[in-house]
Amino acid sequence: MDGFFYWYSFGFCFLDFVFSIVYFRAMSINSALQNRSSHACELCSEPDTNLHGYVVPPKKDDSIDNLVALCSNCYGKITQSDFNDTNYWRFLTGSIWNEIPSVQALSYKILFKLSAEEWASETVESVQLDEAVINWANAEDDIEAARVIHKDAFGVVLATGDSVVLTQNLNVKGANFIAPKGTIVRKIKLVEDNAEQVEGKIEGDTIVILTKYLRKSTV
Ligand SMILES: [Zn+2]
Repeated sequence: MDGFFYWYSFGFCFLDFVFSIVYFRAMSINSALQNRSSHACELCSEPDTNLHGYVVPPKKDDSIDNLVALCSNCYGKITQSDFNDTNYWRFLTGSIWNEIPSVQALSYKILFKLSAEEWASETVESVQLDEAVINWANAEDDIEAARVIHKDAFGVVLATGDSVVLTQNLNVKGANFIAPKGTIVRKIKLVEDNAEQVEGKIEGDTIVILTKYLRKSTV
C-alpha cells in the first residue's frame, strides 16, 4: 500500500505542475496581447473586453508575433471566411499601416481577397511592406494553389481508396493486354505529384491509369 501511495502522490504533483505551466503560459500570452492591443481590435479598433487571439495562417504556434487581437465580429467573419460584406472591411485601409507584422499580414491578406473593390486594390498597391510580410500573407493561397487535386473525366474529385470505372478500352503497355471499357478498378492510389495519374490493379498488375480515362464508381 505504501508503494501505491507514493506513486499516486507523485503522479498528482506532476499533473498539478503541468496544469500550472499551461495555465501560466495561456495567461501570459493573453495579457501580452491585451497590452499590445490596448484592449481594442487590432483591425477595426473597436474596444472589446473579450478579444480573441488569432494566429495568422499558415503560422501555427500562438507566440505573440504570430497573433492578432480581434473583436468578436472580425474574429467570427475571418474564421468563417465571410467576406461578402465588403464595406465592413474598409478599416483595413488603416490597419494595414500598423507597425506590427502580423497585423500587416492579416490586413494585406483580406485586402487582397477584396481586390475587386477599387479602394482595396488601391490600398494594396500603395502600401510598402516587407517582402517577408507579403510572403506570409500570400503563403496560405500559394499552398492551396500548389495542391495536386485528382479529378475523373467528369471533374469529380478522386481520393485514394476510391473505385473507378474505365471509360474506354485501354492498352496496357508492358503487360500486353487490353483492359476493356467498363472495367472496375478498386482501391486506387493517387500519384502524389501528378494530378493526371492514379495507380490501380488490373488483373493482378499495378498499372498507372490516366484520370481522363476513368470515372469515379459508386459501387
Ligand atoms: Zn474588429
